[in-house]
Amino acid sequence: MSGMRHSLKTVCVLCACALLVCACTSGAGANKDNTSDTAVSGDDMTSYDDVGFAMGTVVNQTIYSTDKNIAAEIVDLLTTIEKQRISWREEDSEVAAINRNALAVRGGAPTEISQETKGYLQTALEIAADSNGAFDPTMGQLTQLWDFDGGSEVVPDASRISSLLADVGYAHVHVEGDSATLAESSSIDLGAMGKGIGCDEVESYFDAKGDVAGALVNIGGSSVLTYGKKSTDEPWKVAVLNPRDEVDYLGALTLKGTNHVSSSGDYERYFELDGKRYHHILDPATGYPVDNGLMSVTVVGRHGAQCDALSTACFVLGWEQSLELLARYDAEAIFVTTDKQVQVTDGLKDSFQLLADGYTVL
Ligand code: AMP
Ligand code: MG
Repeated sequence: MSGMRHSLKTVCVLCACALLVCACTSGAGANKDNTSDTAVSGDDMTSYDDVGFAMGTVVNQTIYSTDKNIAAEIVDLLTTIEKQRISWREEDSEVAAINRNALAVRGGAPTEISQETKGYLQTALEIAADSNGAFDPTMGQLTQLWDFDGGSEVVPDASRISSLLADVGYAHVHVEGDSATLAESSSIDLGAMGKGIGCDEVESYFDAKGDVAGALVNIGGSSVLTYGKKSTDEPWKVAVLNPRDEVDYLGALTLKGTNHVSSSGDYERYFELDGKRYHHILDPATGYPVDNGLMSVTVVGRHGAQCDALSTACFVLGWEQSLELLARYDAEAIFVTTDKQVQVTDGLKDSFQLLADGYTVL
């Protein structure tokens, strides 16, 4: 049995998810009321919905603006970021060029990069260091070996895993001036923060345009941006996916203003063999899928790339070891264990509502 929630066959689920995401309720507001200073008011704005495809997944948007082209421009923006900057699969991207130069020259050759990609790498390195390498952007060789994206259902040879593990290490990446150097035949994979990067760039785009009062942008169900406000003061509702049910949600987050929400889970890309689930979040210490009793982690914070990288890091670290890391980034989180227990950090308790049966909030 295998799974890939980002595949097209789940478009319907994600559209349904968007409906919940867009739903208005008068529920309790989030603790953080960080409504951004948008230049326009939502009062005279009608909203429109859009479903597009970018970053290998479905992008659902609800936009409060008189400009009807924005949703299409967002899809183009996300596609450009993916193709020109961050995807290791895209030959012409900056990350692919860094990886080529690491393989071509032992010790690595510097690659000229844009200020944007420099910023993404700096965020990645910061969170890698702060999480003691639980999030590591140099897992590329290992993620390609496991090939969950390609639908592989084979556990790789242990000796191959340990030999590739030797080249994993965020200390192999050096960012200086306008260039990045990747040493020791490592390979950068920013898959754990790509959608969050996309959400940050969408937020900047809205800020620069100035005619977006509010928006909800959902990239593949795993990274969501709530921006500004609706035409009323009602808060945003963001669905938290149920790790074991593609149709029903685990719960809902009620958030005001601009927020980023990112989830990591063992349900996104996985296969099962001899009763064991092998999924796409790898422990950089072992090279194998994390096996610590967690099914998902959802992080809420002020920056998309941070939340996305943190959700992966926290999945590796587990509840106890994540608390300090989350506090350092002023982020909150929801952890869900395989025995269906839900732990919510203090700052998010009033904003999270459990909807699924069989789960317990501790
Ligand atoms: P996410 O769903 O955001 O947790 O990202 C998972 C993706 O990030 C995987 O598909 C891999 O491409 C990559 N990845 C897996 N494990 C790690 C890790 N420990 N640190 C950084 N990236 C990882
Ligand atoms: Mg992530």
